[in-house]
Amino acid sequence: MLDNVRIVLVNTSDCRNIGSAARAMKTMGLKNLVLVDPKEMPNGQAQALAAGATDVLANAKVVSTMKEAIQDCGLVVGTSARSRTLPWPMLDPRGCGKQMTIEGKDYPVALVFGRESSGLTNDELQLCHYHVAIPANPEYSSLNLAMAVQTLSYEIRMNFLEDEQAQFSKADTDKKTEACEDELADGESKYQLVEETERFYDHFETAMQGTGFIQPKHPGIIMTKVRRLFNRARPDGKELKMLRGILASIDKAVKNSK
Ligand code: SAH
Repeated sequence: MLDNVRIVLVNTSDCRNIGSAARAMKTMGLKNLVLVDPKEMPNGQAQALAAGATDVLANAKVVSTMKEAIQDCGLVVGTSARSRTLPWPMLDPRGCGKQMTIEGKDYPVALVFGRESSGLTNDELQLCHYHVAIPANPEYSSLNLAMAVQTLSYEIRMNFLEDEQAQFSKADTDKKTEACEDELADGESKYQLVEETERFYDHFETAMQGTGFIQPKHPGIIMTKVRRLFNRARPDGKELKMLRGILASIDKAVKNSK
């Protein structure tokens, strides 16, 4: 999914920002960088700021218009430091991360950043499905270009990780269900029948009478508590077998000590 995310920088003036943006991208697992008509091609300074992400910089595609950069994308989100006169469907950074994670599973998606001096033009903003603004200090809302790339890439990554986690948990649940079905096939059910559990409780009670923990004349409510405990835990067939084994070893020890 992350490979379907494209970061597009339009008409960037300072190539050091391109280097820093490449670094910001790589830390978040993104690698597709497209430069639209950069005023300055990445040089040694850009490479220095890219640090370990010079591969992202070296693989950056250079095109002459924003349209070219996004033509094969199914979703385009334009970034803007301030709300403009142009009313457009807006996403917040988290919503942007989520939308890109969902759609990025199926096709390329682009996040477009504007010029340091003047952002994206209205024409460029109209090429986007959504706009996203980082809700910064209203009195000073313009982030450095690469820092805006970092912030929005982070939100994509967070959503990606959440999504991945949810899939792992689902796979885990599926596996557990399968395991349970296997047990059923072997004649062992996940939850024990009342009959078997009752045998366990009977055994438990006699074993505890044997040790003297339960006085037959004054049994108290120990067995009620034991039932509540094991009904909450719902031991499966193997666990119940082990518990019965423990009780049998107690019986034996008691018998030998007499
Ligand atoms: N003076 C410009 C600011 C450009 S900052 C303007 O008024 O638009 C350069 C780029 O960084 C912006 O085009 C945008 O892509 C990104 N950026 C900076 N601050 C941002 C913010 N608060 N929300 C979203 N993007 C931001």
